[in-house]
Amino acid sequence: MISIILPIYNEEQGLVKFTQNLQGAIQDIPHDFEIIFVNDGSKDNSLLVILELCSKNPTYKYINLSRNFGHQIAVTAGIEHAKGDYIILMDSDGQDPPEVIHRLIEKAEEGYDVAYAQRIKRKNESWLKKVTASVFYKLLNKITSVDIPVDTGDFRILNRKVADALIRMPEKQRYLRGQIAWLGFKQVSVSYEREGRYAGETGYTYKKMVSLALDAITSFSNFPLRLATISGFVCAFIGLLLIIYTLYAKFILKIYEPGWPSLMITIVFLGGIQLLGIGMIGEYISRINDNVKNRPLYLISDTNIENA
Ligand code: UDP
Ligand code: MG
Repeated sequence: MISIILPIYNEEQGLVKFTQNLQGAIQDIPHDFEIIFVNDGSKDNSLLVILELCSKNPTYKYINLSRNFGHQIAVTAGIEHAKGDYIILMDSDGQDPPEVIHRLIEKAEEGYDVAYAQRIKRKNESWLKKVTASVFYKLLNKITSVDIPVDTGDFRILNRKVADALIRMPEKQRYLRGQIAWLGFKQVSVSYEREGRYAGETGYTYKKMVSLALDAITSFSNFPLRLATISGFVCAFIGLLLIIYTLYAKFILKIYEPGWPSLMITIVFLGGIQLLGIGMIGEYISRINDNVKNRPLYLISDTNIENA
């Protein structure tokens, strides 16, 4: 069986059309499907639309969250309740075309643990969104140690093994794309053109995007903390050069402005030392951070040991 997880936040206008298209696209695929609608505290009538859909089709399930928890948590709730051998994550606004599903399933059946859809084009999205997204993914790739594929959303298929591993990651800041990349296993990309949404507007306000970006960076990189150490070293080094130069200027060149060099040296050198101190604290905090995340130390892909 294949579970399809649809997070829903204010999608009353496009949801029926989307569900019809989805149903049409999976009709000919020789598998059982379960569709899980996760209502993430929609403020419109999405819930009524979902209940209506579910009453007509026994393979439709729904989870109604108590309030808006955000896309990543809504998807997580879906994964934790999915019973399928494969799990498909996709947006419910029509931007992830259902026609790609059979290609994802093909890859999963070829033996890949994860097949993620990679967009080669984005339609009807503001230039600001495209630019911020592209800068963010480049930055993220530079400063993190896991390779998070660029131009992917959460549209992908996971097998049971990966879904169970994901459930074992207890961290509160969810960034599924990164977490799935971190897991490893055999992953492959499937390219597609991203559509515009059917109706309604994006639920990802810039505030939510910034918070997702911060979650992504702090969950997968300690670089921001290390920045203090690095800048501390640089400042202290410049301070040291200043001291040497001032001594040289005073005793050899005999040019010396009373007051100025001592002030500058104190500011730069002490500034550097302070940054270094903060950086050192940062190094410890980053290790605490790694530990409280409580991620499993490793994940086993295959073994012939029973009950491993
Ligand atoms: N969504 C959600 N909770 C939120 C925001 C969005 O469940 O707080 C859902 C939304 O209904 C959609 C998917 O997450 O199915 C992607 O959101 P959206 O289309 O608003 O983001 P964008 O495509 O603009 O990045
Ligand atoms: Mg969307």
